[in-house]
Amino acid sequence: MPIATVNPATGETVRTFDALGRDGIEQRIAAAHAAFRQWRLTGFDERARLLRAAADLLDKEQDDIARTMTLEMGKTLTAARAEAAKCAKAMRWYAGHAEALLADEHPAPADVEDSGAVRAYVRYRPLGVVLAVMPWNFPLWQVVRFAAPALMAGNVGLLKHASNVPQTALYLGELFHRAGFPEGCFQTLLIGSGAIEDVLRDPRVAAATLTGSEGAGRAVASVAGDEVKKTVLELGGSDPFIVMPSADLDRAAEVAVTARVQNNGQSCIAAKRFIVHTDVHDAFAERFTRAMSALRVGDPTSLSTDVGPVSSEQGRADLEELVQDALAKGAEALCGARRPEALPDGWYYEPTVLAGITKDMRIHHEEAFGPVATLYRAADLDAAVGIANDTPFGLSSNVWTADEDERRRFVRDLEAGGVYFDGMTASHPALPFGGVKRSGYGRELSGHGIREFCNATTVWYG
Ligand code: NAP
Repeated sequence: MPIATVNPATGETVRTFDALGRDGIEQRIAAAHAAFRQWRLTGFDERARLLRAAADLLDKEQDDIARTMTLEMGKTLTAARAEAAKCAKAMRWYAGHAEALLADEHPAPADVEDSGAVRAYVRYRPLGVVLAVMPWNFPLWQVVRFAAPALMAGNVGLLKHASNVPQTALYLGELFHRAGFPEGCFQTLLIGSGAIEDVLRDPRVAAATLTGSEGAGRAVASVAGDEVKKTVLELGGSDPFIVMPSADLDRAAEVAVTARVQNNGQSCIAAKRFIVHTDVHDAFAERFTRAMSALRVGDPTSLSTDVGPVSSEQGRADLEELVQDALAKGAEALCGARRPEALPDGWYYEPTVLAGITKDMRIHHEEAFGPVATLYRAADLDAAVGIANDTPFGLSSNVWTADEDERRRFVRDLEAGGVYFDGMTASHPALPFGGVKRSGYGRELSGHGIREFCNATTVWYG
């Protein structure tokens, strides 16, 4: 894949970039390794001061970087601004909380004595250089979600960003540098995915985190496994959105639309499969389809646009294939399932609702990365849980019910890294984020996230 900015709203190649050569990669790994030796010795106050400076810069430059993101991957400008604001907030959150999250842990005195020690505790120490392989869909947030805790823990980062967001990638490298982080603490490597293996096998690189597709996760984790290096994988999702009879249907349908089409339908935690109790199925389907049809698809820089283009020509082709496969096997399109006629340039796709989904359709098992929803009818709670769990993924889940017994059942039974009631999944720095099954392993954000790339060291005094 060439490293280039290609505007998804027009299809125009705006700028291409040369990949970093062997010498350039070597220089950056050496700089990261050298930086770690000093950075690990800094205190939390110093790290927090620099991270807050980065947050201030990001706030000041919000409009410029938002326009770059919109240009490179097509999210609406409104969404891009919100993403930049969220990144600044997460930086400040980790600046304020990292020290407490990584404080020494002291076992109960009786257990310390039982271990034969006069004193024992756990100290969280940084691992070293962490390689971050990141996707284009939240090109700022995915990176900051890794970088803020990693830097606060005393690690340093090497970023291999997706090839279609090079300008955002370069901005991130410069942002941390301009904020005052020492040379080498956070660097962007403009490289294709073929160059990752050598970087990961380098003994100076300690660990890797990858957010992206299952295939990319498998490739990176295999190499890391072979090298016995720690990984965190945040992969795809096909989250259920379950609506039970006690739900507020108007509100559920309204949130369902946002949950499906946020980021032009290209979010790992977007609700993708809408599983509705038979008693309210038709009423929900009518409201949901009406609202999906009413969305304004168009130029992502226009403030009146709800849904911009899919990020790449290939991405739209993949989406169309999934929809065509379902229609050919008997699914019914309640709306959409085509390109908008009025927008011949760019990679637009109409918000789509498909009903009559069966197990032989690819979309039942695969992730639809664009504004396409599938609708299921469930006879009761058990059937809803059964459909929800009948997927290789397990990222998050959404449930609409006012019934406490039902809530307990869903928390117990849904195979996912999150269960969100009466709302949609959204990440927050204080709450762990990650999945089970093919959605990956490990957690980002919160104390769980910052400790992923730490060496939990037992300190024992006899
Ligand atoms: P992708 O193709 O897997 O790309 C993600 C990153 O992996 C890019 O930097 C890419 O580099 C690299 N990559 C691709 N193939 C690779 C390989 N064989 N070996 C090593 N690296 C490789 O993913 P995408 O299509 O851009 O992103 C969408 C996917 O990410 C969806 O499945 C979505 O659900 C998932 N996602 C998950 C989360 C989460 O938190 N769980 C968040 C956002 C997105 P190149 O660009 O150079 O190919």
